[in-house]
Amino acid sequence: MTDQRRCPDCGVDMERMDVQTTDGFKLHLVTNEPKRGLLGGIGMKETLAPSVYVCPECGLVRLYADRDEAD
Ligand SMILES: [Zn+2]
Repeated sequence: MTDQRRCPDCGVDMERMDVQTTDGFKLHLVTNEPKRGLLGGIGMKETLAPSVYVCPECGLVRLYADRDEAD
């Protein structure tokens, strides 16, 4: 899978950016899938750190959930 994303409207490469709250915390997506192992057994859900891509032409912002398998 390539790291490059294209704007569906402009067809140009989108720039990857980091997203943070004003408190400096990273945004996390919580999935409906239970965490693997012990934490899943107590109801913890898998979390994902989204990748943010911004179109330099029209300013469209897209979030991609990168499912890297880092435990
Ligand atoms: Zn665009």
